Amino acid sequence: MAIEQPSGLDGHPSRSEAAQQDEAAGLPPLPSLHRRSFLKAAALPCLAAWGADCLPLNASPPAEDESRFIVEAKFYEKLPYKKIKCRLCPRECIIDERERGYCGVRENRGGTYYTLVHSRVCTAHVDPIEKKPLFHFHPGTMAFSVATAAYNVNCKMCQNWEISQVRPEQVRSVYLPPRDLAAQAQQFRCASIAYTYSEPVIFYEYVSDAADAGHTQGVKSVVVTGGYIQEDPLKKLCERVDAVKVDLKAYSEKFYREVVNGELKHVLNTLVTLRKQGKWTEIVYLVVPTLNDSDKEFQDLARWIRSELGLDVPLHFSRFYPQYLLKNLPPTALGALERAKAIADSEGLHYVYIGNVPGHPAESTYCPKCRRVVVEREGYIIKSVQLQKGKCRNCQQVIPGVWES
Ligand code: SF4
Repeated sequence: MAIEQPSGLDGHPSRSEAAQQDEAAGLPPLPSLHRRSFLKAAALPCLAAWGADCLPLNASPPAEDESRFIVEAKFYEKLPYKKIKCRLCPRECIIDERERGYCGVRENRGGTYYTLVHSRVCTAHVDPIEKKPLFHFHPGTMAFSVATAAYNVNCKMCQNWEISQVRPEQVRSVYLPPRDLAAQAQQFRCASIAYTYSEPVIFYEYVSDAADAGHTQGVKSVVVTGGYIQEDPLKKLCERVDAVKVDLKAYSEKFYREVVNGELKHVLNTLVTLRKQGKWTEIVYLVVPTLNDSDKEFQDLARWIRSELGLDVPLHFSRFYPQYLLKNLPPTALGALERAKAIADSEGLHYVYIGNVPGHPAESTYCPKCRRVVVEREGYIIKSVQLQKGKCRNCQQVIPGVWES
């Protein structure tokens, strides 16, 4: 089972890799919902016509009526002459009437600002929570994972560019309102809903409402984000979701400026805010050969985490595979990932992982006190959990995370 994902990045393997790993993991035989099938199915006039290889989403048929996706946006300011200033992400777009912001999913209509993507799901999939990756959050559970189209930055290495670098009208979607989404998660025995694949910040209103709906049905919510969001909306989001994974693309403004079209300082602010809010957070750093893989950058990153976030935030160094606009680069050498981990370890960080290298010992969680394995992983498979009430069974050291309901 897999969305049609390109290979490797941010914990997402290719479709065939995912199928093999799912099979090896003994996951339940859920039907596939890769994007092409999903879109094809979404175009059909009734749910009965959905292909057998698609998740039987209890969603309404595709909406020729676009209005059902449109709700008033949060976090904006009205300006003279019916202009809008968006205060959701650091770009602070100023938008004329009938225009959209940079992300292309929020539109000024008569001086009122609207999101065009509430409940507008273009991709859905059932994933292990380890695939997000969140390693200290209910290991071994599944996450019902959804996305809408578009993004608020433009990463040259984006693995999901087919949905992230387009406007919502350029991909077919289905209407999946919050209560139905939560019901789907329950139906597929998912402990959580994951907002992922594109950028949950730009479908903020849907995330908020779906998280609330999920909680009323006993389903948690996790956000997989680039962290490009302002502080006020982030704080309010923290009241509603249960964990956040932040993709920290590099530890240099140069990389953010040239490869992401954003600014590092805003993402660092997001991480500090998450820490202050006490929200469970893990960081993924995709190691891109020649662009963000120097010893100095790894060391500066680890020192910043140590001083601003503490030793216990998990840091995942993830393997890059050539994608999108960076196909000219090779995949990350294993040695570079191990070098990054050794540097972060030497700075004292407690939980440093290597990602996208199935079977590597650095996929597992080790007790920082007695060094025994407390969560043993192989790919997405949890082989053993040696935790009791969040403590190492051997030495009783507290292992930070969200382990039990
Ligand atoms: S969320 Fe979109 S419209 Fe708002 S500031 Fe960011 S890019 Fe601009």
